[in-house]
Amino acid sequence: MAARNSRVLHRSLRETPPLAIGGEGAWLIARDGRRVLDASGGAAVSCLGHQHPRVLDAIARQASKLAYAHTAFFSSEPAEELADLLVGHEPGGLACAYFVSGGSEAIEAGIKLARQYFIERGEAQRRHFIARRQSYHGNTLGALAAGGNAWRREPYAPLLSSAFSHVTPAFAYHERRDSETDADFVARLAAELEAEFQRLGPETVAAFIAEPVVGATAGCVPAPEGYFRRVREICDRHGALLVLDEVMCGMGRTGTTHAWEQEGVAPDIQAIAKGLGGGYQPIGAMLARGELVETIRQGSGAFQHGHTYLAHPLACAAALEVQRVIHDENLLDQVRERGKQLERRLTERFGNHRHVGDIRGRGLFQAIELVADRATKAPFDPALKLHQKIKAAALAEGLACYPGGGTVDGRSGDHVLLAPPYIATHDDIDIIVDRLGAAVDTALQSINQ
Ligand code: PLP
Repeated sequence: MAARNSRVLHRSLRETPPLAIGGEGAWLIARDGRRVLDASGGAAVSCLGHQHPRVLDAIARQASKLAYAHTAFFSSEPAEELADLLVGHEPGGLACAYFVSGGSEAIEAGIKLARQYFIERGEAQRRHFIARRQSYHGNTLGALAAGGNAWRREPYAPLLSSAFSHVTPAFAYHERRDSETDADFVARLAAELEAEFQRLGPETVAAFIAEPVVGATAGCVPAPEGYFRRVREICDRHGALLVLDEVMCGMGRTGTTHAWEQEGVAPDIQAIAKGLGGGYQPIGAMLARGELVETIRQGSGAFQHGHTYLAHPLACAAALEVQRVIHDENLLDQVRERGKQLERRLTERFGNHRHVGDIRGRGLFQAIELVADRATKAPFDPALKLHQKIKAAALAEGLACYPGGGTVDGRSGDHVLLAPPYIATHDDIDIIVDRLGAAVDTALQSINQ
């Protein structure tokens, strides 16, 4: 068995995960023949499910023509077409795309572009980046420094740049005081952000970085109404950029191509990944407002960055077809429709559950948060590892979901994130909620709750 002798350095060094040998739409097939309903696309990746024939064909066609050409020498047809599809119509002023291999690389590129832009504008003093606690922006050192998740940062803290500081997240369930309305809460967060600009010196701040809907670290947390408009206004007033990380929540996951469309603001720089290529190839992208690129074009003439696999032709061909399928099959309508069903079913199943404190999210990006006590919102003891128990119980039920811990502050709290494929059927959604319900109850019973 691969199990004990695997030489792959797996995420857990004590356990080898089962082998997945096939996929079929929303389902994954393990070597022992078990079929598992993929309710989270891994980490919100597989937006078209598995083995979509059009995407497989597109990859094969491109592979038979040209698998790779280095971007220092050539561009490629799929890269040019994908950029045209994503930013040809300049959504929110975003006019250029820089293709990388994943979300962390997209964030790194965004941080660097922001810094270089200000150098070339003659504002080299702009060297600070403000982000939010409990955010996740990736695991490479720059992206990890931007992120605000205490547990992920801790071992590497001495290596993380002090250019990044963190403010309170727009996480109403935990951060809004009982005495506050949403508007009060937004006003307090805006005042805190303004104070952070003042503490650093507003002329030294390059950008504010945030996920429009916080993903892995907090479990599908949208901001209260008006928050991002206030943030945009503060950045504009101080001449800083707004960088939105839509690696997890973007490319249709919340029911619009970009999550920021629902906030009434647009970013200067955006990171996308997961749903861009749907897992068919490793691909991410940084999208940038035209003026940023124009400033550098007129200045040094080159973005001082790069990787060997930038704009990989096979990755771009896969992402191009994924995006065409989403368009041709009107899958954003489907995300909104199925999203409503998912929310309704979660509310029916968990709305009165004594250990589910919150049900939240947008579109096909929804989470439940587990609490020991609904009245006080007290989390379970992290030593119980409730989220891991739910994951195991769900797999035993034939359901793959994405539970996480440290929901409250990076250390305590448990949530389960759901991100079904956009092609999920009415029945799939019902099965997801039924199986999750059983898994949550089994896991709670195992800790005597
Ligand atoms: N940003 C966000 C919001 C993410 O959710 C993730 C991954 O989960 C990343 C960045 C990092 O992406 P990757 O794992 O592809 O490097």
